[in-house]
Amino acid sequence: MTTIDVRAGRLSQEQLALNFTDAHPALLTGNALVEANRCYFCYDAPCVDACPTSIDIPNFIRKISTGNLKGSARDILSQNIMGGMCARVCPTETLCEGACVRETQDHQPVRIGELQRYATDSFMESGETIFERAESSGKKIAVVGGGPAGLSCAHRLAVLGHQVVIFEARDKLSGLNEYGIAAYKTVNDFAQREVDFILEIGGIETRTNQRLGQDVKLDDLRQQFDAVFLSVGLGDVNSLGLESEDIAGVYDAVETIAELRQSGNLAELSVGRRVIVIGGGSTAIDIAVQSKKLGAEDVTLAYRRGPEQMSATWKEQEFAQTNGVQVKHWLAPKSLQSENGHVSGIEFECTTLNPQGKLTATGELRNMEADVVFKAIGQTLVNTLDAAAEMPETEAGKIAVNAEYETSLAGVWAGGDCISSGEDLTVHAVEHGKQAAIAINRKLS
Ligand SMILES: Cc1cc2nc3c(=O)[nH]c(=O)nc-3n(C[C@H](O)[C@H](O)[C@H](O)COP(=O)(O)OP(=O)(O)OC[C@H]3O[C@@H](n4cnc5c(N)ncnc54)[C@H](O)[C@@H]3O)c2cc1C
Ligand code: SF4
Repeated sequence: MTTIDVRAGRLSQEQLALNFTDAHPALLTGNALVEANRCYFCYDAPCVDACPTSIDIPNFIRKISTGNLKGSARDILSQNIMGGMCARVCPTETLCEGACVRETQDHQPVRIGELQRYATDSFMESGETIFERAESSGKKIAVVGGGPAGLSCAHRLAVLGHQVVIFEARDKLSGLNEYGIAAYKTVNDFAQREVDFILEIGGIETRTNQRLGQDVKLDDLRQQFDAVFLSVGLGDVNSLGLESEDIAGVYDAVETIAELRQSGNLAELSVGRRVIVIGGGSTAIDIAVQSKKLGAEDVTLAYRRGPEQMSATWKEQEFAQTNGVQVKHWLAPKSLQSENGHVSGIEFECTTLNPQGKLTATGELRNMEADVVFKAIGQTLVNTLDAAAEMPETEAGKIAVNAEYETSLAGVWAGGDCISSGEDLTVHAVEHGKQAAIAINRKLS
């Protein structure tokens, strides 16, 4: 992995610890009860439809208000086994809370995500169990990729009585929960604690450092298992398409975030002094905010369209700005400038929408100095299946699936970021994994 060789003023360990504490600390019991009692417990609640995993939100909130935390956690986890992580990372402002009746009334939605975290954290700490495995089916399923989609699929299959083997390329399970999500959203090793909780069900064997296409072959898995579920995520990033993109100081945001998430000592990480982030999604926001929290002096996020077109939600954009990130719109990178082989700035061209609504360059140029540039303009599927004789068909660069999450290959299902439907969010990946497991079970029985 790269090291960023430009160092900003070093922050003290105390300051770093403060900067990277939980961005949204857990609710205390008193606050949780007050918040739960704000819910109208709507019949046909719109928040349930807005949750990709269809959690029965009014019911789990009602159970919090009556002190039945186990029942509340059961309502959440039976629909979404990663209810703990989703409570921390879901962009609730565009999902459940965005649909809350109290949001439409007075812009103060019930804090559904925080209540979900309250219930699931309390339950996980209790060490109790909810799930029991059905009688063994005698069927074996291979899950390739141990991120949210793979773990969700594996758990549901195990509950249904199947035997599962997860093949994971990295040395830890949990995918981007472990290597991608911003550090201040999931503190205290929560991703690994959640993996342990999921695996408690039994019947799931995990084989890490096993990469499909390298250590295992799809053809072999199709022969050895009754079904295969592909959940390999998106392993590569889009390039800016500029000359000299590989010069020192230009980094892939996802790779740098992974390095930060795995660092045992944040003080040892190098950071830029003047950082420019190119992109408009959550990855761009996350690397910008984390650079600032690591001590970068100036962090600018440049996006080629306006705030409404950014895939980062208004709340994420606001979070970046309140953390000292400057967000500039209508700027497209035109060329990278360098000194002695190291990036020294970027020339941008201003953009606008023409009367037909198409993005066009205005010809006006802007220069910005930078010693670190992060590329955060989306991820792509790495062709990890190339060692297979037959490949699943793709659509728009991702694996194509039908409504049952079946690929074009018999006995092979897929879900999560690597498929061509759904938004690239943790909660969607969890739902894909769950639905694919239900479809696989239906087919095998
Ligand atoms: C920087 C960043 C921040 C994000 N922040 C948020 C957020 O705040 N909220 C949110 O909802 N979503 C967020 N997302 C999106 C979210 O993380 C993903 O949508 C989600 O992780 C997708 O789950 P997945 O299981 O499909 O893929 P992944 O999480 O990518 O997991 C795929 C797994 O497959 C493994 N794998 C890959 N290739 C192979 C192979 N050939 N053989 C075996 N294993 C393989 C990988 O190592 C990985 O463990 C973020 C994404 C990024 C990049
Ligand atoms: S999983 Fe996410 S979208 Fe669904 S209720 Fe929980 S926080 Fe809201």
